[in-house]
Parts: sequence; structure tokens; C-alpha cells
Amino acid sequence: MDLNTLKTIASDAVDKHKDELNELSQAIWSVPELNFNEHSAHRVLTKFLEKAGFKVERNFILETGFRATYGDNDSSKPNICVICEYDALPEIGHACGHNLIAEVGVATGLAIKAAMDASPVPLGKVTVLGTPAEEGGGGKIDLINAYVFDDIDIAMMSHPAPFDQSRPTLLSYVSCKVVYNGRASHAAGFPWEGVNALDAAVLCYQNVSCLRQHFKPLWRVHGVITKGGSKPNIIPDLTELEYYCRAPTDTELDVLKNKISKCFESAAVATGCTVDVRFGERGYSSLISNNIISEIFEQNAAEMGIVLSTKSEEPTGSTDMGNVTHVVPGIQPLFCIGGIAATHTKDFQVEAGSSVAQMFTLRQARVLAMTVLDIFAKPELLTKIKEEFINDTM
Ligand SMILES: [Zn+2]
Ligand SMILES: [Zn+2]
Repeated sequence: MDLNTLKTIASDAVDKHKDELNELSQAIWSVPELNFNEHSAHRVLTKFLEKAGFKVERNFILETGFRATYGDNDSSKPNICVICEYDALPEIGHACGHNLIAEVGVATGLAIKAAMDASPVPLGKVTVLGTPAEEGGGGKIDLINAYVFDDIDIAMMSHPAPFDQSRPTLLSYVSCKVVYNGRASHAAGFPWEGVNALDAAVLCYQNVSCLRQHFKPLWRVHGVITKGGSKPNIIPDLTELEYYCRAPTDTELDVLKNKISKCFESAAVATGCTVDVRFGERGYSSLISNNIISEIFEQNAAEMGIVLSTKSEEPTGSTDMGNVTHVVPGIQPLFCIGGIAATHTKDFQVEAGSSVAQMFTLRQARVLAMTVLDIFAKPELLTKIKEEFINDTM
């Protein structure tokens, strides 16, 4: 059976299930669940995949994680992983559209499975992986640490956006907590007895702002003062700031961390406070888009009539999918859902639940499935993909 016939079968499978797939993402959209608490989404997704004929492992590694597999266990054939996210944001629900990421993941899985069932020869294996808590919790880091990607050859995911883009810039990220300790005293009566931790916090904020002029174009640092004292007549003895730091690579992020650490420390020296700096342990790595997988994806996208953005868009933030692309070759293209709203806005939340998004979501699933079928059909591609991955991560 030729590749084009398999691609048509995959595409038809998405069409055949379009109503159920829509219901699936609607069920997730209408019950927004936060980091590690995506119980309802976990339930509907695993039920759907099991019914569709996948071997499903519920509560996989994490309470709301899952793994659904289908196909040949022959390790000489590729095992391709399609990733679902399904966590929401506090207060604004599915304003990052992760309900649609889940729909794309499941639809891609169904399409590949249909082609596998039709093929007279074994093609490989597909793994639909449910990864909780992308919004800050880093669920994929737990899966990486549990060696889940050890038997996976390629991982892919697709994220909704206001435009179509094949290789988005997604930055390495780390959070940071800065605590200043001083000494309380009556601010009018005995100011000379006090050591002002709020002055330290303000200087810290100013130091970072001064340094910002010298940042490279893709460095980002943004902070807030989370504790700033309690009463004007008490010199604050404890203040706290929280920062997010981002840069295009883990190595550049280390340089940035080093520079801003000096901003934190000098504010303590100037005011006589002590400082405690804690960088988060669950940082996200930058996304490495594998060029060969991207090229295959781009060809299929063009055939499907998708016009990919060629301008280098502003960075769209950071994701734990970045960490995945440091352990296996992968891609995370962005897909337009029919509107112009930016992610993490109330308008995007509305778009992610609208029927307009469905055509775009299912079209993206078709493109991912075609990309996988191309890789199944030409084993030499996988060899090249892996060679590039080794070069990228050396
Ligand atoms: Zn988000
Ligand atoms: Zn997101």
C-alpha cells in the first residue's frame, strides 16, 4: 500500500471521529483543572483512548498522567510519541488552549492507528502520552526522570496560538526567590537601630532594571515584590521578591543567573541585610526544534494549505516540552485557531472553546499524523533525525 493511500486513510479517520474529538476538548475546556489536579481530563482522555483500541496505563508516573500505546513492540521500528497537555490556568481557565493540545494529541494518535491497521506491513508504534502540569508544574520533568522517553524515538506536540509557526522560539526558564533579612525597629523613634529589608528589595529591583539595558535581545527577567513589610512605623525586617529568568539556551541562562545574583547580593551589602537566593529546581529548557522533523512537518503543512509564519515572532515563553527535546528529537509547532487573541488572555480562552477552532485543530492533527507516516515510511529519515539530535545536544 503506498504512502498516499495511508495518508488518506489517516485523514479520513480524523474526519470520522470529528464530533467525538470536539466533545472531548469541550469536556476538558468546560472543567478547567490546575497543575497536577487534572482528574476529569485524565478520566475522559483515558476512557476515549481505551475505547479507540489503545492499551492505556492510567495514573502513569503521576496521578493525572497517562500512557496509551498502539502497535508493534518490535524495537527496530520507530516508537513515536504524541504529547497531550490538559492543565488550565488559575481564574482564566483554558486561556492557553491545552484542551486543544489534548485533542490534537488524541486525533493524531487515532489517525496513525488507522493507517497502521490498514497497512499490510507493521509500521511502528505510537505512544499518546498525557503530561500534567505544564503551567509551572513541569510534569514532563517527572516523566523524563522516570525514564519514560528511553524507548521513544521522536516526540511531538502542537500548541494553539494566534498564528501558525513551525519552529517557535521557546526560552530556557528558571524561577528565583530572593529573601532579605534585616532588623525591625521603630521607624521614627529608633531608626538607627533598624536594618531596612525593604530598602534592600527596592535596590535589588533597581539593580536588575539597570542591568536590563545590557541584556541580549532574548533575555527576559521579570519580578514582583511578594513581601514588602507590614507597617510604615516598623522598619521591615523581612522582604521577599520572586523573579522569572529566561534566555535562549541553558548555558546563556547560567550567565544571566550569575549576573542577576550580583544584583541581589549588592543590595544586601549596601543595606547591611543578609540575602537568601533560591533558584527553582524545576527549570524549563529551551525548545530544540529538530530541523529534519520540522522540514517534513512544513511540507505536509504546505500541502494542507497552511501558511506558516516566516517572520521571527516574539518569543512565546517557555515550556517543559523544551526539556523533552533535550532527551529525544522533537518538534512543537504552533497552530492558529482562527482568531488573533494572544495566549493567556480571556479572549483566547473563548477562542479555545469555540467551534471555529475545530477545523484548525483537526487540520493540525492531520499534519502531525502525515509527518509520522513519512517517518514510518522512510527509515533513513529517523537515522538523520537522530544524528542531528546528537549534534544539537552535544
Ligand atoms: Zn500557557
Ligand atoms: Zn500552553
